[in-house]
Amino acid sequence: MNESQRRAWAALDIGPAWVLRAPPSEAAAHGAALVSEPQPQSRPTQAPAPEGPPAPLPPALSEPPMSAAPGRDDLAGLDLDGLRERVATCRDCGLCESRNRTVFGVGDRRPHWMVIGEAPGAEEDRRGEPFVGQAGRLLDAMLAAVGLGREQGVFIANVLKCRPPGNRNPRPEEVARCAPFLRRQVELLRPRLILVVGRFAAQTLLGTDASIASLRGRVHRYRAGELDVPVVVSYHPAYLLRDRHEDKARCWQDLCLARATAGPREQDAGPDGPSGSSPSQ
Ligand code: URA
Repeated sequence: MNESQRRAWAALDIGPAWVLRAPPSEAAAHGAALVSEPQPQSRPTQAPAPEGPPAPLPPALSEPPMSAAPGRDDLAGLDLDGLRERVATCRDCGLCESRNRTVFGVGDRRPHWMVIGEAPGAEEDRRGEPFVGQAGRLLDAMLAAVGLGREQGVFIANVLKCRPPGNRNPRPEEVARCAPFLRRQVELLRPRLILVVGRFAAQTLLGTDASIASLRGRVHRYRAGELDVPVVVSYHPAYLLRDRHEDKARCWQDLCLARATAGPREQDAGPDGPSGSSPSQ
């Protein structure tokens, strides 16, 4: 165990018993089953907590009538920087009135993983970067635990690029307007895996109203253009911050499943793999 893993495990409140017992390829064949059982650290056992009250079913992102959304035909010709510009000037829904900044996403332009959350919060809206608050620090720790980071093999984005005022739930029409941006991001970034965090993002991406508990632990798919990207679902870091010890343990299993599904990063695979990454907001 190196120092960064030690810090990550401490942040996730899990102990060194949480070591993959098989290399990723072997683990992939068994899903997360090869991961050690959780070792609660002197905490009372809790019943698995749902992630809050049920929300209305959001529209699916992978099979929507998104071509019906106005002003979206132009996205196909945009590269990542063009898409960022397009998002920065977007006025396609009411969120443009209350936002301070759009939050396009940040990270590696050739990501191994893409992490997708719900929508920017207050701090993200101020800074124009996703997951920069306390939840973001936990997300960084989670990624560090599997040797990744927002500028090391990961691109982080949200379903919505603008903050819903007062952190209210995103509305279906806002999701519908914003969804083509996310789909084009996935097409351009071509991640090997999507880790989707939180009930809203998971339900939206997968077009379901199923609970996180029932969606996690297996691999789903997200289609974007010709791409068909594996998706692993886990808890939102903001939820995990509420002292959900058993769900943190489950989250670690999800990270192991994601790692096993994505396989090694190309640059980690051998001396011929690409070297370095190019961070981009
Ligand atoms: N929660 C999210 O889902 N996304 C962010 O960027 C910040 C908090």
